[in-house]
Amino acid sequence: MTPLRLGDSLLPLMNTDDARTPPEVPRLRRSLLGWYRREARDLPWRRTRDPYAVWISEVMLQQTTVATVIPYYERFLSRFPDLRSLAASDEEELLALWSGLGYYRRARNLRAAARIIVERHGGRFPEDPAAIQALPGIGRYTAGAIASNCFGKALPAVDTNAARVVARLYAIEEPQRAYGTRSKRPFGSGSRALSRTAAIWRIAEKLVPPEAPGDWTQALMELGATLCRPSSPDCGICPVAEQCLAFERGDLEPYSLARPRTAAVTVHASLVVVERGRGREQRILLVRRGADQLLGGLWELPGTLAEALAASAGGSAISEPDAQGKSIRRRIGRRNGEPAAQGKSIRRRIRTDRREPRRAVARALASSLGLEPTGLVRSEEVRHTVTHRRLRIAVWTAAAPAIGSIPRPLRTSRGQNHLWANPRALAALPLGAASRKALSALPART
Ligand code: SF4
Repeated sequence: MTPLRLGDSLLPLMNTDDARTPPEVPRLRRSLLGWYRREARDLPWRRTRDPYAVWISEVMLQQTTVATVIPYYERFLSRFPDLRSLAASDEEELLALWSGLGYYRRARNLRAAARIIVERHGGRFPEDPAAIQALPGIGRYTAGAIASNCFGKALPAVDTNAARVVARLYAIEEPQRAYGTRSKRPFGSGSRALSRTAAIWRIAEKLVPPEAPGDWTQALMELGATLCRPSSPDCGICPVAEQCLAFERGDLEPYSLARPRTAAVTVHASLVVVERGRGREQRILLVRRGADQLLGGLWELPGTLAEALAASAGGSAISEPDAQGKSIRRRIGRRNGEPAAQGKSIRRRIRTDRREPRRAVARALASSLGLEPTGLVRSEEVRHTVTHRRLRIAVWTAAAPAIGSIPRPLRTSRGQNHLWANPRALAALPLGAASRKALSALPART
């Protein structure tokens, strides 16, 4: 392998005042683009330059794998084929379509941004990168991906995969020891010291080939996703191995951008399937999570899940429907200035609830809904993961009391914060994934 002349070849790349293109950059572009055009995976969003479709795919791909996204992407575009249909969408239908992808704020931001584009940009996706980035839920990465892929702008789009590739190619360490130098100011005299993230973006800007910015964006991400993986990268078949400083040094670890993992927390909770009626009249009680909660706005089985999640977050407010059907807020922990004693007593109660789950379930239904179910039976246990929380959820079944004993607001089939749902229509509802799992774990009932 030809050794790289670090000082001569790469440092000019980092000097923003220097317009010369180092010879390695065209070679790097040729190698990577050639590989991408031969080997890239055929993904649905790569068959289009429509900014709407590319935007939907980019938002879905945040925190979510390609394999998971593909069916969601196809369903979403078939139901909302353009900006105007998304702008006019009903939030409940939108969340139902998103159900299972998680991070529901992304779906709400999509709709909010679509409305802005319809109202302020005449329904045409803006081409100006600054205008794209000003839309809700769109940061520098997504704006760069849309602008380069759909409008041919020579802008970088650095996601986690692309960042790792650039950090390894140029051996960028934290904070500024790059390119084999110990200089505190490797970006030229007079330049201020840059963080590693800023250095990566600076290099990425310089690498974009003006004649093929979209393919370049995809190629960097493709390399990071398929060969230049966080662990066990396939350097042996990498198209840019000869130019890769980390590979040349034989030590990838300092450049792999591995973030310390957040320790997983196990959260115990209960969900209750409260049923009334049989056959075609069968209904299941659902409650709506408060908009300010994790997974806010989704329907969920009643129980202790919301409280347990809030407590595990170290303190926050939870919203639940009260016996009159209005949303009430209860605070847990010390955030927002609430008394520490209150947070402590709720935590103590959650610990007690774990020892006496039946009582906990009855208390939760009584305090949040004013409902005293009959025939409470513990059934299955399901497991589910939300961010770094491992949920262990006991599933209970219960019969609703006689109609005269059900609190008046809950007698209606649907209120602001509750719903007696037809079990055969659950697929069309934005139902939390934990509740979906709980329901499917139960034996079929008629
Ligand atoms: Fe990544 Fe290895 Fe290729 Fe370097 S040689 S870019 S570390 S896969």
